[in-house]
Amino acid sequence: MSKRAKVLVVDDDPLNRLVLEKTLKAEHDVFLVENGEKALTFVKTTQVDLIILDVIMPGIDGYEVLVQLKENPITQAIPVIFISANHSHDDEAKGLELGAMDYITKPFSPSIVRVRVRNQLLIKQKNDLLETLVSIDGLTEIPNRRYLDENLSREWRRSKRSGIPLTLILMDIDYFKRYNDCYGHRAGDECLKDVAQALTAQCKRGGDFIARYGGEEFAAVLPGLDKSEAKSFANKLRNAVKSLCIKHKASLNADHITISIGIATTESGQVYTEQTLLEEADLALYAAKDTGRDKIIAR
Ligand code: GH3
Ligand code: MG
Ligand code: MG
Repeated sequence: MSKRAKVLVVDDDPLNRLVLEKTLKAEHDVFLVENGEKALTFVKTTQVDLIILDVIMPGIDGYEVLVQLKENPITQAIPVIFISANHSHDDEAKGLELGAMDYITKPFSPSIVRVRVRNQLLIKQKNDLLETLVSIDGLTEIPNRRYLDENLSREWRRSKRSGIPLTLILMDIDYFKRYNDCYGHRAGDECLKDVAQALTAQCKRGGDFIARYGGEEFAAVLPGLDKSEAKSFANKLRNAVKSLCIKHKASLNADHITISIGIATTESGQVYTEQTLLEEADLALYAAKDTGRDKIIAR
């Protein structure tokens, strides 16, 4: 592992906690808590990479802690290794069926615990990498549509709960087919990469990002932006692309690459669903195309 992993040990027996800490602290950052309630609170504020979880504890037991971890999207991917003195095959099967990655019986051998922890951390690291790879567009190396759709669903639910407005911006390069026809597909690819970078550079708030939505279309999900703030952000995006000054002599509306932008914001009084928000942004984009391109239309 390149950086030290955070390992949470949950055990009501102080001696076990100390032994596990001693076993693991040379390689990892180890945190100790003595019951399930504290474990569930801890993972809300600290991002841990692995949990070693005692099965039998006063209060909520290890199985129940695991169930609650799996119910929460933030914690469900954290690998859990059960550790238990009461070993029966039934207990072990139950733990694994609930989603534990491994099961260690007490008394344990420190060297085996070290190896098992290392193995689970490696698997986690590979899973995280896969998760990143399936969310990134191969050409432009910015988030892809899959990532955007997931983000939109999440932000949509958050916005419904909190009442905070949500803006969706769709962007499309003008006359891009003509660009490919004129300069070649390879040059078209380079243009897409430059546009992706220029748009991304405008995302200055933490959490904001631009996704490649499809061929020469880009999109952004912007929580907390009302319609006028969204328009001013869209204007920055439009200017950022214009400022690249990518020559486009085959364009019918300028001599350089431009984009058209459609905006939909939940606050505009209409009853939106996640799907209609997308449709509204798409209609706005279509209107921008239809009325001259290189412009922004908000609905
Ligand atoms: P409009 O102004 O109406 O948007 O016209 P347009 O030509 O940009 O739109 P159209 O949808 O007709 O064409 C999109 C073009 O984008 C066609 C397609 O070949 C090109 N394209 C899509 N993905 C890629 C890609 O990955 N690389 C390159 N070079 N071109 C792409
Ligand atoms: Mg286009
Ligand atoms: Mg298009």
